[in-house]
Amino acid sequence: VFGRSLAQREGAETWSFYEGPPTANGKPHAGHVLSRVFKDIYPRYRTMCGYRVLRKAGWDTHGLPVELEVEKQLGISSKAEIEEFGIAEFNQRCRESVFTYVEEWKRLTERIGFWIDLEDPYVTLENNYIESVWWSLRKIWDDERLYEGHKVVPYCPRCGTALSSHEVALGYRDVVDPALFVKLPITSVAPSDERPEPAVVEGDNLLVWTTTPWTLISNAAVAAGGDIEYVRARVAGGDDVYVLARARVETVLGENAEILAAFPGEAVAGASYEPPFPFISDYGPKGHTVLLGDFVTTDEGTGLVHTAIAFGEDDFRLGEQHGITLQNPVRLDGTFDERAGQFAGKWVKDADPEIVEALRDSYKLLREEAYEHSYPHCWRCETPLLYYAKSSWYIRTTDVRERMLAENERIGWHPEHIKHGRFGKWLEGNVDWALSRERYWGTPLPIWECKGEGCDERFCAGSLADLRERGGVLPEDLHRPYIDDVVLDCAACGGEMRRVPEVIDTWYDSGAMPFAQFHYPFAVGSEERFTERFPADYICEAIDQTRGWFYSLLAESVLLFDQTSYLNCVCLGLILDPDGQKMSKSRGNVADPWDVLGTHGADALRWYYFTAQQAGPWAGYRFSSEAVGESVRQFLLTLWNTYSFLVLYANANEVGRDELPAHPEPAEELDRWTLSRLQGVTAEVRAALDDFDSTTSGRAIAAYVDELSNWYVRLSRRRFWDGDRAALATLRHCL
Ligand SMILES: [Zn+2]
Ligand SMILES: [Zn+2]
Repeated sequence: VFGRSLAQREGAETWSFYEGPPTANGKPHAGHVLSRVFKDIYPRYRTMCGYRVLRKAGWDTHGLPVELEVEKQLGISSKAEIEEFGIAEFNQRCRESVFTYVEEWKRLTERIGFWIDLEDPYVTLENNYIESVWWSLRKIWDDERLYEGHKVVPYCPRCGTALSSHEVALGYRDVVDPALFVKLPITSVAPSDERPEPAVVEGDNLLVWTTTPWTLISNAAVAAGGDIEYVRARVAGGDDVYVLARARVETVLGENAEILAAFPGEAVAGASYEPPFPFISDYGPKGHTVLLGDFVTTDEGTGLVHTAIAFGEDDFRLGEQHGITLQNPVRLDGTFDERAGQFAGKWVKDADPEIVEALRDSYKLLREEAYEHSYPHCWRCETPLLYYAKSSWYIRTTDVRERMLAENERIGWHPEHIKHGRFGKWLEGNVDWALSRERYWGTPLPIWECKGEGCDERFCAGSLADLRERGGVLPEDLHRPYIDDVVLDCAACGGEMRRVPEVIDTWYDSGAMPFAQFHYPFAVGSEERFTERFPADYICEAIDQTRGWFYSLLAESVLLFDQTSYLNCVCLGLILDPDGQKMSKSRGNVADPWDVLGTHGADALRWYYFTAQQAGPWAGYRFSSEAVGESVRQFLLTLWNTYSFLVLYANANEVGRDELPAHPEPAEELDRWTLSRLQGVTAEVRAALDDFDSTTSGRAIAAYVDELSNWYVRLSRRRFWDGDRAALATLRHCL
C-alpha cells in the first residue's frame, strides 16, 4: 500500500521527511515505538492530502556505544586489549553487532504500521555514505573551519578518549575528595605603574584552595579577581600572614582573624611565589605569578585560584591570554610521567594522599578537609573523568553561530518553547564542535599529514578520487585499520603522507544524512534527489536530541548549504512507568511493546500515543498496558460497534455496498446534522494536523464518533431496522 501511495502520486508535490537513524544493536522499546508512530502519522496525513512523501529508512552504525557492546561481549575493557585483539577483527565484530536486531526492528516497524522504505535504507558504515561525509568535511576544510586545536576536554583515561558534553551529563556521582588550603609564599613583588607601593610583601603567603590535589604538581599561576577586595590577614595569635579575599577571611581563618591591610586584586597581580612543588618551572616569564582572571569568585575557597593550565578550561584560557607554556605531566592513561618526581607512574587520583603528606612536610598545607561534591565519571566505565588539555580536531561552528540562530527562527518547533529555550539557548552557548575520537569504529577522519623532514603539509580528502590522484591504493573497506595503510604522496615535498589516527564523532554521521543518504554529490541523480527533499518538511525524535541530532543536522546544513535542513520538528517526551519512574532494566519496569501489541493491537497503541497526553507528546507518558486498554474502551470499541451496527442492518435488509451512494443526499434533519458535524470535524482535524497537533485532532474524532453512536444512531434506530437507504448511506459516509 505504501508503494502504491507513492506510485499514484508520481509528479505530485513532494513533502519531505527525514528518518533519524536508530542503531539496531539493541531491541526496540516503547520509546522507539512512540517516535516511530509519530514519524508515521504526519507523513501519512500529508499523503492523504495528495503529497508524495518518500520515506527512506536509515541505520546509525558507528560510535562508542557500539564499541562498548563489543568490548563487553569480548570481556575486554581497554584500548590496549582492543589493539591486542586486532582492530580489523574488533571492527568486524562492531559491524556485525549493529545488525543484530535489525529483523526485530523491521518486524516491529511493520506491526505498528510505520510506513518507511526498509528495502533501500541508508547505512552510515557503507563506503558511499563515508565518501559523502568526506566530501562535506573537505568543504568545511576549504572554508578553513576544520582545525586541530589544543583545548581542555573531559577525558576518560580508561577509554582513552574525550567525551562530549552530552556524555559527561550522564555520569555525575557524589564523591568525597580532599579539599586543601595551600600556602604559597611570595618571593618577589612587582610594583605596578598605578601602585608604586606594593600591597603585599615578600614572605606573605598566597592562600589557595583545591579539591584536586594531584593538579598541584602542575600549578603554573594563581588567579585573582580584579574587582575583588583582598586582605593581608593573620590568624589570631599566629605569625604567618595570608593573602586572601576579604569575603573569605572569617570562613577560612576564623572569627578572630586580624586584618592588616586591604586592597583590590590588581594590587597583588604580578607577584611571584614559590610553587607547591618544584618539579616543573619552565612556564615562561609569567609562570608562578599572580594573574587577573574574570572567572574568579568568592563563593568557595579563598578568592585566589590555583591554576593548572592543562586541567581546567578557565585555567587553559588564562594560560593562553598570558602566554604561559603548556606543561602536561599526566599521560593519556591517567598516570604521572617522569616530570612528576616521586609521583611518576602513579594514577593521579591514587597520588592524592601522598601529595597531601608532601605538602604537610614542606609546611605548605594550612588545612585539609573532606569535601563532598558531585563529580563527573565516565558513563561507560565509571572512571572519574579528568579535565585534560589535548589536541583534538574541531569544526569552527562558532563562525556560523549567528547563522544557526537565524535559521532556527525558520524552524517550527513543537512545542514552541524549544526554539528560544532548550535549543536556542544551546545555540547561543555554542562552542566549536569537538569532532575527533581516538577510537576504532567510526568514519575515519580523512586528513593525511606529511611525515617528510621539516614538512608540515596536510591534506583533507574529499573523495576516493582525491586519494587515488595522490597515489593512494584504496582498500575495499574504508574503515580502520585498512584506511590507515593508505599512503599518499606529499604535493609539497614528495614525501610520504599518513592519515591521522582519529575517527569522527558519530553524531556527525547522522547529521550528514540529508546529503549522504543519496551518496551526494557523487551518485548519478543524487543532486536531484537531494534538492527535491532538502530541507525536510518534517522530522521527529525524542526531546534530548536538541543536543544530538537536531543540532548536528542544523550545524552541518548551515556550514554546507547556509540554511536549515528541517522546517518542522516534533519533540517527544519520556515514557515513564505508571508511578512516574523512568523505565530501566534494573527496576524491572520496562514495558515490552510486543505484550501491548498482543493484548490491545497496534491501532490501540497508536491511538493512545496520539491522544493520551493533553499537553502534547513532548510532555511524556505514564505508560501502562491498562492505559492503552482504556483507549480501546473509550474510542475503538465505540467505532467498531457503530460499524457492526451498520453492517448488521445493511445485511439484514440485503443492501449491498454498491447500492449506497458515496455522497448521500440527506433525507432528514438528523442526516443533515451529522453530515454538517462531519464537515466541521474534518476542518478541525485538518487544521490541527497541519499544526502537528495529534491530540486535538484525535480527540475531535473521538468526540465525533461518540456523537455518531450516541445521538445519530440511537435516535435513528427505527430507520436502520427498516433498511432506510438514506440513513445507511449517511452512516456509511460518516464512518
Ligand atoms: Zn571510560
Ligand atoms: Zn611533505
